[in-house]
Amino acid sequence: MSRNTTTSQTPREFALSIVRTLQDAGHVAYFAGGCVRDELFGLVPKDFDVATDAAPNRIAALFPSTQEVGARFGVMIVKSRGQMTEVATFRADGPYSDRRRPDAVTFSNPQIDATRRDFTINALFLDPLAPANPSLSIGGVTPQGKLIDFVNGVDDIRNKILRAVGDADARFKEDDLRILRAIRFAARFGLAVDPSTSQAIQRHAGELSGISRERIGEELRKMFLNKHRANAATLLATHGLIGPTLGGVMDLARHNRQDFPLLATIDSSSFGVLLAAMLTDLGLSVLPRDMLAPKPRQDQSPQSFVANRIRTALALSNEELQCLLGTLEGAAAIEAAWANLPIAPRKRLAQTSWFADALAMVRAQNPALGAAVDVDLAELTSTPGGIAPPHFVTGDDLNSVGFPAGPRFKQVLDKIYDAQLSGEITTRTEALELVRRLCV
Ligand code: ATP
Ligand code: MG
Repeated sequence: MSRNTTTSQTPREFALSIVRTLQDAGHVAYFAGGCVRDELFGLVPKDFDVATDAAPNRIAALFPSTQEVGARFGVMIVKSRGQMTEVATFRADGPYSDRRRPDAVTFSNPQIDATRRDFTINALFLDPLAPANPSLSIGGVTPQGKLIDFVNGVDDIRNKILRAVGDADARFKEDDLRILRAIRFAARFGLAVDPSTSQAIQRHAGELSGISRERIGEELRKMFLNKHRANAATLLATHGLIGPTLGGVMDLARHNRQDFPLLATIDSSSFGVLLAAMLTDLGLSVLPRDMLAPKPRQDQSPQSFVANRIRTALALSNEELQCLLGTLEGAAAIEAAWANLPIAPRKRLAQTSWFADALAMVRAQNPALGAAVDVDLAELTSTPGGIAPPHFVTGDDLNSVGFPAGPRFKQVLDKIYDAQLSGEITTRTEALELVRRLCV
């Protein structure tokens, strides 16, 4: 029997080996940005980025497997045994004429590279091979190496402050995405936004037009798929960012509230469900038709109208849209109709994919109704076949008795299934008998 003696490296060990190779070759090389920040907050970084004074062609020469991701921006990926790490050459960003990406970059030194970064907490370097200062403790964490801090980021981490590097107005003007990144980091790490950074965000809040709706959706997804999501929503609201983020649909909201109790309570890992909770907190989920503009089609529910506007604002996937819509419509249907629904439509509603999420929203907002629905569900579950019994008869059965294709075909199948759900028929034989009666 052979034993596998290869020990797999952690991402940190792999990045450390890259730093060692670069330093042994005479270069400056550090861990940079998010990974240094995460470790100082006591978290395990999801990836480690390396910054170096080696130019991309030197990086390519020093490592057997590399790939350019943006040689123009001085970024290479170094790969080995299933691991990969971004290795970027220290750089200075040129002007940002498109407000999103620098027109050109020039290679630089660590200090200049730190000052092109967005927030002080993101602008730290760590030399993982230099001895750590054992007496240095940041919120109980001792850095695993020597910190290199050109922007007072260590103090900001210690004091839990999010601060733009340099002139906040200028930095947000260069790149609108930083506005949403600011909110995301402040929420994720529980940071207070430094007043001048906060004011600059508010001054630039209307300018998210510089970022694509896909990027806005992506940032909101990252904020929400995180346990600090309600905190993120509150920060968006207090900085005047709910409107620019959610697009025109916010014109319909009666109030721009700053607390998000439903979003804070709902436990879901689905972006559509979380958006449904946020829209409900904002009063957008149950708008009367006459408030909607342009007027929705008669066959379109107010929830569908709102969900489709959000889909455009955040470039949602089809699945996210369906989830948002199903949750909003499901919750509205439970609120408005459950109490008076007969058995079959109750079962049909309870069968829908988003029913559990919709009910979770109802429970959080209206506990008495939630509890009543739970009692009803227990009763429905104990009926023969339960809530979603397999169909006694299918389209094939209708075909075999010669039922013609057409609009009546589905109506007959629905009628038979309703009879089954309500317990009027309890066997396939009875169902086939009903088919014959309905076919004549
Ligand atoms: P995350 O945990 O979301 O990955 P991160 O800080 O690692 O957080 P990345 O987008 O991976 O974020 O970027 C890596 C680093 O690059 C950041 O820490 C920051 O120093 C810098 N950076 C990223 N985006 C910007 C930006 N828009 N403007 C300035 N600096 C940026
Ligand atoms: Mg990162």
